[in-house]
Amino acid sequence: MGLSAAKRDYLIRILRHRLCGQARACPYCRNTGGLTLLGRKKLIIEILRCDRCGLMFRYPTEEVAENEARYQEIYDAPEVTRLPDDSELARYLSEGFPGNLDFRARIGALRALRSGGRILDYGCSWGYGVRQLCDAGFAATGFEISRPRARFGAERLGVRIIDSELAVSALAAGSFDVIFSNHVIEHLPDLGKSFELFARLLTPGGLLFAIIPNFTGRAAREGRFWSWIGQDHPIAPSHQFLGRALLEHGFEVAHFGSSPFDHSMLAKLRAGQFDRLDRDGDELLILAWTAQAAI
Ligand SMILES: [Zn+2]
Repeated sequence: MGLSAAKRDYLIRILRHRLCGQARACPYCRNTGGLTLLGRKKLIIEILRCDRCGLMFRYPTEEVAENEARYQEIYDAPEVTRLPDDSELARYLSEGFPGNLDFRARIGALRALRSGGRILDYGCSWGYGVRQLCDAGFAATGFEISRPRARFGAERLGVRIIDSELAVSALAAGSFDVIFSNHVIEHLPDLGKSFELFARLLTPGGLLFAIIPNFTGRAAREGRFWSWIGQDHPIAPSHQFLGRALLEHGFEVAHFGSSPFDHSMLAKLRAGQFDRLDRDGDELLILAWTAQAAI
């Protein structure tokens, strides 16, 4: 059949959920009533949109505990963690991080809004983003649930990385000025709970700066959506959905832009022209602020 072991295990879990009659409910608002079928994948997987909150998601979904176990299992496997070897790491540190690991343009966009402060890189993998944020002048801490990746970052990049959900949840309110997150939110099983955690960890007037696939952008509408939702992305939060969800869970203002992170975006961010940001690119930029402290 040519199915990878991971894909086979995924289909078996999905099939088991269907046979066990997992409730067909929205993973965000728990609505079981109006759910619109957008399409199917591999016969047994339905892609649905909740009529109440607008979240697009796959059914069957995965239970929260199952999701956490799966992340440890998958990302602990050495062939998937893809930690750099000694010579690669030395090259990255002297010449800069390559390709998807290069956050210069993203950090440039962030610096158009904040030039420094305490920042949490939520879902930081082996810490290459934490390193770059520190180099750009932020007091950066990472959070990563894969312990081998977290350990690698701490030991080899000399950055601070928290490696348990319990520890990050136990941090004091207002611990950060910014929460940065690159391609993580679309993997979170309980968005409402995560947004409340982010809002609590941010200081008043703090900024969530997050990037996810743009599930309603041009490429998604032209068909890429169907390869983006599924095994790796159980949910497809659009800016239309997020604009409401963030305000329901601790944030006061939300704006959205999209890639590329170029001069045009930076100029609009610097000028506070958030309504003029393009929203059709492949990656969605989420900007959300907590309420300012009462004077
Ligand atoms: Zn819903």
